[in-house]
Amino acid sequence: LEEGARSCLLRVRNRLEQDIKPSYLMDHMISDGVLTVDEEEKIRTQAVELLELLLRKDNHAYISFYNALIKEAYDDLANLLHDDLPNISPSVYKSFPDGCTPYVQTVLSEGGVPQRPVVFVSRPELVNRIREKLYRLQKEPGWVTVFGMAGSGKSVLAAEAVRHHGLIEECFPGGVHWLSIGQLDKPDLLAKIQSLCFRLEQSLDSQSLQRPPNSLDEAKERLRFLMLRRYPRSLLILDDIWDSTVLKALDIHCRILLTTRNRSLTDSVSGAKYEVEVESGLEDNKGLEILALYTKTKLQGLPEEARSIVRECKGSPLVVSLIGALLKDKPNRWRYYLCQLQQKQFKRIRKSSSYDYDALDQAMAASIEVLPDEHRDLYKDLTVLEKDIKIPAKVLSVLWDMEPEEVEDILEEFVNKSLLYVDSNNKPYLYYLHDLQLDFLVEQNRNELESLHTKVVRQYQQHYKDGHPTSGDDECLYWIRFLTYHMAKANLSQELYALMFSLDWVNIKAQIMGPAHLINDYVEYGPILDKEVRSHFQEFLSLNGHQLEQRPFPDVVQLALSEPHNSEVYRQALVKAQEGASRG
Ligand code: ADP
Repeated sequence: LEEGARSCLLRVRNRLEQDIKPSYLMDHMISDGVLTVDEEEKIRTQAVELLELLLRKDNHAYISFYNALIKEAYDDLANLLHDDLPNISPSVYKSFPDGCTPYVQTVLSEGGVPQRPVVFVSRPELVNRIREKLYRLQKEPGWVTVFGMAGSGKSVLAAEAVRHHGLIEECFPGGVHWLSIGQLDKPDLLAKIQSLCFRLEQSLDSQSLQRPPNSLDEAKERLRFLMLRRYPRSLLILDDIWDSTVLKALDIHCRILLTTRNRSLTDSVSGAKYEVEVESGLEDNKGLEILALYTKTKLQGLPEEARSIVRECKGSPLVVSLIGALLKDKPNRWRYYLCQLQQKQFKRIRKSSSYDYDALDQAMAASIEVLPDEHRDLYKDLTVLEKDIKIPAKVLSVLWDMEPEEVEDILEEFVNKSLLYVDSNNKPYLYYLHDLQLDFLVEQNRNELESLHTKVVRQYQQHYKDGHPTSGDDECLYWIRFLTYHMAKANLSQELYALMFSLDWVNIKAQIMGPAHLINDYVEYGPILDKEVRSHFQEFLSLNGHQLEQRPFPDVVQLALSEPHNSEVYRQALVKAQEGASRG
């Protein structure tokens, strides 16, 4: 082990010994070939022993240990080791296929770039086309657009393109930052940019964390500054853009890779522009390769139905993956699933003509059909999620009234069937559906939407009968953000009304999400709310928006007492103030 790495290990040894659980780390190190099973036996669960052993090993072991820390989400500890990572000589370099070195893994995981899907086939030609365009951003800022239809593998390709040591080192030494966008409104966009700014500022270790920018213009300026001064030569990846307002907000003269279904989005922004089209889906042989990987068969060993299945899937990697996951469990059902794909029982007319959804519908229906009855109903519950929203298991543990562990097991089953995706860069893990899957669910359950949303609201009320959650964790954020949405969709107008016209709720939501989301609720649900009372709340928020962005958070009752005396906001504040006074 080289000197720097060795001394680093010695320096941080105590912390490592206290914090790590060796068994998981050792699994990774064994699969990297730097630790033997015998050694593992000896160490069993003792961190002290593992450290001893590491100190006697070579640079590879240090790197492998570092990677294991990252994989097991000990990011803080990994950071302590980062600066002393041994220099990777070209020979070591070669041992990482595709130039995906520990350095690349760290950069990508820090930037939130998704990992490869479990079953993954390479698409070298497309990946190289994207990389070649990215190299054009080496000397100057600009935009690279990857466009194509839904489910054609754009996000996977974008993530794959940056998984390359040379590219990052030469073009984006400032890092790669991933942002999932999807269909969103202005407050959501603001929230995304806010959290990106927060992420970027946090990793600078800057002492003076600034308050979050509270308008899109301000957010744009903040990000411009950060990208120009603190993260020059870094790449922003914007996944799944629908609308050019997003691009305008990010038109800050930096380097951007974006995926979209709409080719002409960058027309409205300035700078150099390049594009890569993901024309059709996978070529036939790539589709076959996915099926072979799922069923652990050799390509030549696939049955004759395989080719027809791939054809029926129209090369959509999403659909092929669904069928592959089914065949993994039932390897003798090739003919059966082919027939299911060919039946058009789910045929419907859709607005979008750009994609053959039939295949997806058949595949989704087949995957759902093999779920155990009780899980099928749970999967149906996911119909109520908003597009592109990722949720932690805890939200579902409220909805399903189950222990989080039990929920995680069920979600794992969905993930294994390609019915759900997991973002494991985040701790806790976040789960989400592909757009097309959500389309399918909404279509299939269109007569039950109201009752499904009602269930969400009732379960929430049951679980939080003593008050709204305020912890600020991912679960709390979900409820505070989406409770109003579920109430509105459930047609629970009275309850929505009571919630939104309560100073307590305003207090909590403003504190947790900032005033922009609140104001947006009043606008969005305006038509079902009382006009006059609504205006009281809206005026209160717009007048005090700036204050409500401050931390420490101001006393909302005090602010509300300055409202005109005929305002409902004032009335509620007065009641609270009097209650407070009488309690002494
Ligand atoms: P898009 O961004 O175009 O909507 P995604 O990149 O999200 O599509 O891909 C949809 C799904 O298709 C993925 O979640 C994965 O299951 C599957 N998929 C895409 N690309 C590949 C690939 N190269 N190898 C294996 N599966 C893939």
